[in-house]
Amino acid sequence: MRLERILVAQLVEAADDAPVSHFRRPPNELIWSLAMTESQFQAVRTAGFLLALGVAVALQYLAPHMRQRGSWRVNAAFWAINAAVIGVVCGACACTVARWAAAHDVGLLQRIDGIAWLALPATVAALDLVSYAWHRANHVIPFLWRFHQVHHSDPTFTASTALRFHPGELLLSLPLRLSVVAALGASPAGVVLFEILFAFANFFEHGDIDLPVALERRLGRVCITPALHRRHHSRQREELNTNFGTIFVFWDRLLGTHRHSSSTQRVRTGLPYIDSPPTIGSALGLPLRAPLWQEAAVRAQGSNR
Ligand SMILES: [Zn+2]
Ligand SMILES: [Zn+2]
Repeated sequence: MRLERILVAQLVEAADDAPVSHFRRPPNELIWSLAMTESQFQAVRTAGFLLALGVAVALQYLAPHMRQRGSWRVNAAFWAINAAVIGVVCGACACTVARWAAAHDVGLLQRIDGIAWLALPATVAALDLVSYAWHRANHVIPFLWRFHQVHHSDPTFTASTALRFHPGELLLSLPLRLSVVAALGASPAGVVLFEILFAFANFFEHGDIDLPVALERRLGRVCITPALHRRHHSRQREELNTNFGTIFVFWDRLLGTHRHSSSTQRVRTGLPYIDSPPTIGSALGLPLRAPLWQEAAVRAQGSNR
């Protein structure tokens, strides 16, 4: 039985029993009144995903950095595989866990009354920090790097690279992400807002996009720009373990992993130990084939920072 079904069953039970359930909070409490079903959650998330992809592709066309064509075939295949795998395992689990937390009065945000307006930004910031930590762990722990290197194995750097994640990496991250949603007591609205902002940031920062200098400088004080993330995809090992953020740049700045980059810089992207562009089959099998010395090198580099 899928995890979602188990959680939904508990959810229905709790909604019937709980006398002061957050399902029944006063309507003026905006955040909790934005509760949504799994299918609404999936629909909003999918619309945000498609819009984010469209915006990034348009920006690549209007303000190209290197006019790269991108590895669309392999990356689109990863997207299709991931959509199927995650759909089967747990398509809207984050929403289900958020509803479960509300029904059972679980989580930090559920305990703080009177500042409901804070719940949305707090959820976005907390989940982005977790994403930073998970990404950094992927560069430091050899087992996780086996999967994450697939993302870095794209020799090109375009919006399609944002789709290139090994299903193993997504599945491994699921328990952590769901635990944080529960610990936080995030609302479904907060989770879906994070997922939409994450999709925009993910497509935008992987874009083959040049930004005007002044705009790039201002944006780079708050969020991850394409130039900052391009440096993270560098073939040079000393660059690889920098700029781990996805939405906000604050975590890199606070934790010493921020490295400046601008649209005027050219970066050779990809992995130094993969010469030819991998096919979908070889990229899927990469976690099984990576020699240990490569992982050790990446780990040593990560621990030096
Ligand atoms: Zn990375
Ligand atoms: Zn990336």
